[in-house]
Amino acid sequence: MRRCYKRHAVRHYGCIDTPTFSGLGLRDELLAALAELGYEEPTPIQLEAIPHLIAGRDLLGNAATGTGKTAAFALPLLHAMEGVGTGRAPRALVLVPTRELAMQVSEAMHRYGRGLGARVLPVYGGQPIYRQVKALERGVDVVVATPGRARDHIARGTLTLDDVTCVVLDEADEMLDMGFAEDIGAILDAIPAPRQTVLFSATMPPRIRAIAQNHLTDPVRVQIDAEPAAEGEAPKVRQEAYVVQRAYKPAALVRLLDAEEPAAAIVFCRTRVEVEQLVETLNGRGHQAEALHGGMTQEQRDRVMGRLRSGAADLLIATDVAARGLDVDQLTHVINFDVPSAPAQYVHRIGRVGRAGREGVAITLAEPREHRMLRNIERVIGRRVPQQALPTVADVRARRLDVTTATLREDILEGDIDSFRVVVESLADEFDVMDIAAAAVKLAHQASRGSDDHEDIPEVRMREDRARPDRDSARGRGPGGAPRRANRAGPGHPPPEGMARIFVGAGRIAGVRPQDLVGAIANEAKIPGKQIGAIQIADRFSLVDVPASDADRVIAALRAGSLKGRKVTVRRDAKAQR
Ligand code: AMP
Repeated sequence: MRRCYKRHAVRHYGCIDTPTFSGLGLRDELLAALAELGYEEPTPIQLEAIPHLIAGRDLLGNAATGTGKTAAFALPLLHAMEGVGTGRAPRALVLVPTRELAMQVSEAMHRYGRGLGARVLPVYGGQPIYRQVKALERGVDVVVATPGRARDHIARGTLTLDDVTCVVLDEADEMLDMGFAEDIGAILDAIPAPRQTVLFSATMPPRIRAIAQNHLTDPVRVQIDAEPAAEGEAPKVRQEAYVVQRAYKPAALVRLLDAEEPAAAIVFCRTRVEVEQLVETLNGRGHQAEALHGGMTQEQRDRVMGRLRSGAADLLIATDVAARGLDVDQLTHVINFDVPSAPAQYVHRIGRVGRAGREGVAITLAEPREHRMLRNIERVIGRRVPQQALPTVADVRARRLDVTTATLREDILEGDIDSFRVVVESLADEFDVMDIAAAAVKLAHQASRGSDDHEDIPEVRMREDRARPDRDSARGRGPGGAPRRANRAGPGHPPPEGMARIFVGAGRIAGVRPQDLVGAIANEAKIPGKQIGAIQIADRFSLVDVPASDADRVIAALRAGSLKGRKVTVRRDAKAQR
């Protein structure tokens, strides 16, 4: 039975009445920006959150990266903003844990708010402060900041919060993990009421609920649906995930298509723009892909579907909206080019294969940051989606040779090759029959499908959730999430197994705080805050425990960057060598 997709119900995919952004009442300039970006419909978290935020409510949202949460808060924030492009002090502040996220959120807000002329400024540690000061002086509408740098600006008087009417805490659990609890509290206390406060977090530990209790007023609670799928709803298909950095996704897809050789496959993308780009990339690499998205006329879509059904096309690149209701018996593979924005969407997509006892394969390409969405999906479907290593170029070649061998064997068994014997005979005077056969196999092999793939695709491991229970006490962090202090990182205690201790030549006197070190390591060396161990700050130096396998990278990155605006000595702590 097909259920309808209600305005505030997020689990119902597959409805005829598709929810739209215009149905949410967003301003025309925003709708135009979304159309240009190729967004066809709101994701579940957007559908849930946007009406409440437009109504001015505070909101506590449970959503991980990949759900579309950025647009869920950015669109209503821009929608409600008056006098965009005119004032000097920001009207909205978004706090994020890392420099990457600051840039990413700021870019997204800039794209959404372009038609409104919104001025969005990312503000993070590691970038010269004077450049940010200049930009703040020129006037901005939205500041997207890491908490430490935001506080620096507030203390200098270069960031004024008097006009802020909306503040967003994005990835709040990550910010607490990085030791920013105190900074967040101080910043929120400095923003006058009345204001709208929005908090998004992938997890809801007690410390997040405490912040919500202290700083949010009667918030609505939204979360993407985590209800288990009904018995039998998830088809029995081979499901697997590959973790790939965004830039390598097209190459990974080509590799997988070459390895799997699907009879017919559908690749799901988030936007029309992505669909079109991917069609172009795949066709440029020897595949024959067809696009299917909501920007096409019904006639165009019917034509594509006809080609798929007749077998003339075997690779469809589609958005959810366009592929809704699509029912093709031949489909053997569903590929999620991105992790779907909600578990229900995953279940719905993979329901296209493995029907009536047929074999089906569901492949998901995930970015390292999207591990939580994948875990959510596993929880809802009640089974693991194992992470696999991408096949190598050699694997794919070997597989293609197997296929060529099998095809030749079939041809020999079928007979009907007499008319070609004359070719072999005429060459046999000159060459060895074995060489003639090998050359013929080469020709046949080259004529078979497959791309000329040599690309190096770096292997990435999924970021696993760490065990959470005793984390705070293990790091000497107070129950309120106060900055971590290392009660076990003292010079007398060796670092725990698997960790290495790093000496940083700046400490309390230079104003170094644990969150500065965590921020610098997370940003410069790309080590998630959670993996950084105990920290000790002495007057003139600090000691930080990091995973031993990352120690060299952390040292190089810290040496290349700066801490509190200064170059510092960074090396392995000689006393802690085990
Ligand atoms: P986020 O969870 O905010 O990091 O967003 C994940 C990705 O989804 C980003 O690449 C967004 O551009 C994209 N995205 C967000 N909302 C939509 C939507 N309604 N339709 C298609 N793509 C979206």
